[in-house]
Amino acid sequence: MYIVMGTPGAGKSTVIKEFKARHPDAQVFNFGTVMFEIAQKEYGIANRDEMRKMRRDKFRELQSRAANELMKMGKGIIIDTHASINTADGFYPGMPNYVLSKLTIDSFIYVHASVETVLSRRLRDTTRRRDIESLQELRFHESVNLAMVCSYASYVNAPIKFIINEDGKLEEAIKQFEECVRI
Ligand code: AMP
Ligand code: MG
Repeated sequence: MYIVMGTPGAGKSTVIKEFKARHPDAQVFNFGTVMFEIAQKEYGIANRDEMRKMRRDKFRELQSRAANELMKMGKGIIIDTHASINTADGFYPGMPNYVLSKLTIDSFIYVHASVETVLSRRLRDTTRRRDIESLQELRFHESVNLAMVCSYASYVNAPIKFIINEDGKLEEAIKQFEECVRI
């Protein structure tokens, strides 16, 4: 299983989508979508961006149930998720120990773009209800993500591949992704 992470707007979904277009056999799952399907059914949550605002115990339960679902999907799958989630209580780990301990992870892939690029992509994306983060907050979020992903990697003893995905550099980002993912 490959866990793909990155600050929202770094372009991980774009890199994954393009990889999937070139490798149709790849099995890709979005952790947030699996959570959202359960949240819609069981908690009447109407928008995926509302999950960040859920009660902590329900949010934890959703994370844990999503991990159970994903573990049934077999080996070599690609998961689109987050190193941390920016909630009102603070940055919350995307892969806490009770999630990591359920999963068999080949590697973490961390997609990065500069905070300026991330901010301009977020401003252009009208499909999402992203919380507004300043450049300073974004820098902090990025640092938190990096610290989180290092702790996950050491917990499960798996490597982290860093991929830079600046505007106009998608092709290079995909090449790097292909180097690391064996399906
Ligand atoms: P995305 O569409 O990838 O931005 O994900 C949508 C939402 O799913 C996020 O804002 C989070 O609320 C939730 N989500 C995704 N991955 C995780 C995770 N590993 N742990 C907790 N929540 C997650
Ligand atoms: Mg995404």
